[in-house]
Amino acid sequence: HAKSDGRKRERFFAGEMEAQMQLRHALEADLRAAIEKEEFELHYQPLYDLSQRRICGFEALIRWNHPIRGRVAPIDFIPFAEEVGLIVDIGRWVLRRACSDAAEWPEDIKVAVNVSATQFSSSDLTRDVGEALATASLSPLRLELEITESVLMENLGEVLPILHALKERGIRISMDDFGTGYSSLSYLSSFPFDKIKIDKSFVNDIVDNKEAHAIMHAIILLGDALGMRVTVEGVETAEQLALLECEECDEIQGYHISRPRPALDVPHLLSLPRNGGATPLPSH
Ligand code: C2E
Ligand code: MG
Ligand code: MG
Ligand code: MG
Repeated sequence: HAKSDGRKRERFFAGEMEAQMQLRHALEADLRAAIEKEEFELHYQPLYDLSQRRICGFEALIRWNHPIRGRVAPIDFIPFAEEVGLIVDIGRWVLRRACSDAAEWPEDIKVAVNVSATQFSSSDLTRDVGEALATASLSPLRLELEITESVLMENLGEVLPILHALKERGIRISMDDFGTGYSSLSYLSSFPFDKIKIDKSFVNDIVDNKEAHAIMHAIILLGDALGMRVTVEGVETAEQLALLECEECDEIQGYHISRPRPALDVPHLLSLPRNGGATPLPSH
């Protein structure tokens, strides 16, 4: 009995695994077709300069409008796209689209693009970035690349020269999701990042919790001491904004300023008085 049960279980797992494989193949085929079928879209979320009290840039965030599944969030396909290497083609598309969109914006508005580790290891990122900028006639000074520490963990020796080459061209490099990894602090000394983006998990309790406030205060001081611009992600309330204004925080990003919006909405966001349009906020 035991033997035949074992075989049944084996068959069951084999069937299960095959179903999984088929799902993955279907997803891969869908993803492969998505670029050509123009199913990807970039949404833009404002980066808000606290001392100037206006939008100083936008982060490009990819959206996948799947014909059957509807809007698919990046968390549900970016990790898979990284695994199967499709992120290289998708990333190239993102760079091109983001640069050509940004070329339509005022000259003092930057664009931030997320870059995965795979783009460093299995493609010529410097060339792809150069081509995207040239095609759009966008100044490299207006482009920021956001990387997470996983990019550095992957292969520091390979990644550092690429980062330096990009930086030499005037492109700015930000460390994204700062504080969430295993060893964010040690990576701060391995490359002169232009900016750190403190992860939204650190902002949640800053208004009500003294310890959370103290940690935020310390991270901002650290970034400042290292000569990096400091952005806080995930700011959702006026109280959080007010608290961060009192710290040496340079920039915020979050639903309180705006959710990520389609490219068409960028001119409107820029025209709002509080975001740098006609009537500036009275300073207090
Ligand atoms: P990220 O780069 O850290 O982007 C910030 C994420 O936080 C975005 O999620 C944004 O919508 C969300 N967010 C912004 N403000 C708030 C807020 O106030 N509250 C809350 N709860 N969330 C907020 P999204 O768009 O779902 O993107 C998730 C992640 O997917 C990104 O995290 C990034 O790691 C990745 N991603 C997005 N677009 C791209 C891309 O073009 N290429 C690559 N490689 N990764 C991308
Ligand atoms: Mg980012
Ligand atoms: Mg982030
Ligand atoms: Mg984050």
